Amino acid sequence: MNEKQNMSDDQIKKAVAAIKAERPAYEKLLDFFEKLFLAQEETKGHLDLEPIEIPKDLLSVKRQEKFPLVNRADFAIDTKASGALLKKICRLSAEATEVLAEACSKISNALEKGALEPTTLFSKLLMEDDAYFQEVSQGLEIDKKVLTFVAYTSIMPALSLCAEQLTACLDKDTPWQKGYCPICGSPPALSILRDEGQRSLLCSFCGHEWQALRIYCPFCDNKDRKTLHYFFSEEEEEGYRVDMCDQCKRYIKTVDTRKMSHPVHPLVEHISTLHLDILAQEQGLESGIPSWLQT
Ligand SMILES: [Zn+2]
Ligand SMILES: [Zn+2]
Repeated sequence: MNEKQNMSDDQIKKAVAAIKAERPAYEKLLDFFEKLFLAQEETKGHLDLEPIEIPKDLLSVKRQEKFPLVNRADFAIDTKASGALLKKICRLSAEATEVLAEACSKISNALEKGALEPTTLFSKLLMEDDAYFQEVSQGLEIDKKVLTFVAYTSIMPALSLCAEQLTACLDKDTPWQKGYCPICGSPPALSILRDEGQRSLLCSFCGHEWQALRIYCPFCDNKDRKTLHYFFSEEEEEGYRVDMCDQCKRYIKTVDTRKMSHPVHPLVEHISTLHLDILAQEQGLESGIPSWLQT
């Protein structure tokens, strides 16, 4: 276990403990996600991945045209490590919600019988092959979202490591200022305000964080402050708000780290603010995260 991983484990544990104390309603959900996030960190520590190479001329075209560095299908996956994590997530799910526990027990059985093949599952996810997920989930009589969730959470350590390696190819001199991830082109899952009030966006797919404009809708490029608003939850939770756009009627949750008394782990924050998603959706707003990546 390396130093970075230790720090991350510690950050996850502290963030979870603080939020459980603040919002006890999330206790059960966070019990499961804490184990899941720690298992992902452990997997990330011993992945065997070929670095993704981008030819120089292709890289300069991508920079010029503001194209993301790679497509989702280009990510490298360590099938052995992710396959082992998949089995572990299925085991952890036994203590999660009933729906997840039941579906994961069927997934485990299918894996054992060889009816479900991790290599195929992961590559179909990267290719966003919805028909495959539809067919397999129907065959197993489980919710398609659960199958996508376990497949995605199993490859997340690899996606995150690839994204970290690829940051070396990003143009450090030109601000990105786009609403999609500069690494993989996916929309953001969360908006984060850091030290001096700089805003960054967290990729919903590879976990890369990039700097963005303060007054800006990442889903439709709107920069007009008259049509961009935000609201707080009824409890006026310090440090959390929902940013919304009148133009595209989408929203993004924002975490202000300057107002937090606990260590901020973006994924823990995302999971423990589902009440804000409910509030936003009650107002007729839509999430900008692709439906297959929504928790
Ligand atoms: Zn990304
Ligand atoms: Zn918008």
